[in-house]
Amino acid sequence: MQTQYFHVNKDKPDTSILAQAAVIIKQGGLVAFPTETVYGLAANGLDERAVSGIYQAKGRPSDNPLILHIADYCELAKLASSIPLNAKVLIEKFWPGPLTIVLKRTQAIPNIVTGGLDTVAIRMPDSTVARELIRLSGVPLAAPSANTSGRPSPTTAEAVLADLAGKIGAVIDAGPSNIGVESTVVDCTTPVPTLLRPGGVTLEMLIEVLGDIEIDPALGCENTVPKSPGMKYAHYAPNAPMYLLEGENSSQIDRLQREIKHHAVQGKKIGAIVSSETARLLPDNVLAADYGSRTSLEQVAANLYSALRKFDTDPVDIIFAEGVAETGLGLAVMNRLRKASAYRIIKV
Ligand code: AMP
Ligand code: MG
Repeated sequence: MQTQYFHVNKDKPDTSILAQAAVIIKQGGLVAFPTETVYGLAANGLDERAVSGIYQAKGRPSDNPLILHIADYCELAKLASSIPLNAKVLIEKFWPGPLTIVLKRTQAIPNIVTGGLDTVAIRMPDSTVARELIRLSGVPLAAPSANTSGRPSPTTAEAVLADLAGKIGAVIDAGPSNIGVESTVVDCTTPVPTLLRPGGVTLEMLIEVLGDIEIDPALGCENTVPKSPGMKYAHYAPNAPMYLLEGENSSQIDRLQREIKHHAVQGKKIGAIVSSETARLLPDNVLAADYGSRTSLEQVAANLYSALRKFDTDPVDIIFAEGVAETGLGLAVMNRLRKASAYRIIKV
């Protein structure tokens, strides 16, 4: 299959171009599109066959449900059988934006979207291009991240094509995603809402609005079954074994320098996913993927997946990653880095 390439302006997309992409969706095809979090892979969320194409193209396990993306609030009543007060509060505050809400589903949704669960995950993206594409398609769009399952999510059209060229109908390029990590997932079917996945809306922001929130105990922990099926799968992995440093920053840097010496004498090619501050301290024989200043977690989140993909084109034997503080977006960043490292964590 030839994957069509469309380019649009992020803020003022050409409607006639998006209409061409919407035709592909209406015909049951797949379109990768930009959102403020990461690039998504969209199909008509009410068409079982179209949605099965997403699982096929990504190699995604069938028990990992998809998020339905909507552009108008009136769509919600068709998809969710009830909307508890906590969900209303979250919607009011954070939509459109990087927050996905899990609600009781209606029968309008094919089972393939929800992985057979009696709940459905719904989000209204903030990206103009995303909302315009949803409107022109006229249906909710089922859309996971537009990567091969297990790989880092794409934050550029180029990264989408590296994984999915020839497997999808089209990609819409509107430049790099602003936020860079996926949406926060909150289950609102529990008496107290439960955080299932940290993401673009931070835990601090949720607490400020809800007062009380539970955190799925499986978060950041390898051996507990998560409530969000997708969280149990290996994810975001670069093409070489990766070790994640956690702890006080100067201790991390000391340890990183020692690990570099140790592995360099063995003739290994070493990659380091680090802050700009740390990148400047590394010897020339280390290939650095710079995720930006560690003083800006927004910058780190925005650059994270490109950093994880850097070693696809510049292969190394072993990768070390510098951990960040788990405040704000740092919680989502550390969740992704732990998974990318397959929990090979070096605590210092
Ligand atoms: P992705 O679209 O690749 O960002 O993944 C969507 C995330 O939302 C995965 O972790 C899914 O397991 C999760 N998710 C989707 N639907 C549900 C649901 N009904 N209940 C709990 N988690 C869900
Ligand atoms: Mg994903």
